[in-house]
Amino acid sequence: MAILLKNISTAVTFNNQNDILSNTDILIEENQISSIGKNITAPIGTEIIDCTNLIALPGFVNTHHHLYQTLFRGIQEVQEMPLFPWLIGLYEFWKHITPEAVYYGAMVGFSELLRTGCTTTMDHHYVFPENQPATLIDEQIKAAAEIGIRFHATRGSMSLGKSLGGLPPDTVVQKEEVILKDSERLINTYHDTRRFSMQRIALAPCSPFSVTKELMIETRKLARKKNVMLHTHLAETKDEENFCLEKFGRRPVELMADMEWTGSDVWFAHVIHINDEEMKLLDGAGVAHCPSSNMKLSSGICPTSELLDAGVKLSIAVDGSASNDGSNMWEEIRRAYLLNHLKYGSNGLNAYEILKMATRGGAEVLGRNDIGILQEGMAADIVLFDLDDIAYAGSHDPLVSMVTCGNSSLVKMTIVNGKMVVKDGKLLTIDTHKTGKQAHKVATDLVEFQRSHS
Ligand SMILES: [Zn+2]
Repeated sequence: MAILLKNISTAVTFNNQNDILSNTDILIEENQISSIGKNITAPIGTEIIDCTNLIALPGFVNTHHHLYQTLFRGIQEVQEMPLFPWLIGLYEFWKHITPEAVYYGAMVGFSELLRTGCTTTMDHHYVFPENQPATLIDEQIKAAAEIGIRFHATRGSMSLGKSLGGLPPDTVVQKEEVILKDSERLINTYHDTRRFSMQRIALAPCSPFSVTKELMIETRKLARKKNVMLHTHLAETKDEENFCLEKFGRRPVELMADMEWTGSDVWFAHVIHINDEEMKLLDGAGVAHCPSSNMKLSSGICPTSELLDAGVKLSIAVDGSASNDGSNMWEEIRRAYLLNHLKYGSNGLNAYEILKMATRGGAEVLGRNDIGILQEGMAADIVLFDLDDIAYAGSHDPLVSMVTCGNSSLVKMTIVNGKMVVKDGKLLTIDTHKTGKQAHKVATDLVEFQRSHS
């Protein structure tokens, strides 16, 4: 089935020439862009969509999330807290998650991501309660396929419980041999390396304060043996820095370098508390910048411009929904722009640079050369926004207006891998009313259960 997007007002390609095309067409055949330019003739049977007054971008790529946390948003007990007490409070709720909760949590997060222009997301799932089956990530992968989002699942892990000096309760940490065995199972079952792949696996021990150094090293060895990427939280807070200095005598980034956890097959979430010397140690690793989460948990401001100047691959991410509390990729882009300007003033990044970070930047961080750019031969992951809406009346440059007016949360269309998944802000692949209702019931039951047992 072919689709011709006809007469797009502005198409921002993020190609090597930084082309921004006016009044252009895009022809989609199967799952890729087969042609882009003016007056394309469509093959017989092509669905033709008039895109007059619409702006097209490559789909956004979200590089850090914890989807299960969508079921634990707005919990009164953990508001106005920094990371460590926030985590300690939430572990008590999270320890009750089930496969059903993980499935519905993923569906809620995916829905918001798709409706706000995200076509590829990762997830970092690291909570595996001892009384639950090991198939929680399998549930996320099932949900991603049903809803139609490109998905990089990561096999997260926690092995350093409270009794061994870590932060999480012992009931949600796992034995290291169990973690490594399940990591291998997930890679063997789901990791698809082909071009336009819809599912990949990476390995992601949670953080320096919830896993042992041994697990970090063994995970790195396994990832490099199986040729998959590595991910973790890093340099998020001063508390983490103090923990690493006390326990290992090293700052967080130094610790990663010691364990050979750097290079182009690694990406880190946050990376706020980093100095110039440490930026060189990253050695080609990517960063997921999560502005809402960093602001809400008072973690600090990521040195985005310095990281870019140092040649670090930078991307934008929503982070877990319990620290955001949304999965709105569009808002995250706007906040990344605003936070960068708060820190760097008139030397801050412009709208084009911020959008490039959210598209091509994210693709590069996830090690993909088939998404993040609108050009022939790339995956047909395309989002279209309507700047003809009254919300944009009186605005001028389309790119600047999109980022600074901040009213484009819901997309006109989201196309993933050549399939229309969202149209006029509505998801076409699932019954959002039914799924939302069920997700809310599962969430309420879990939270009520914990409250009645504490
Ligand atoms: Zn996170």
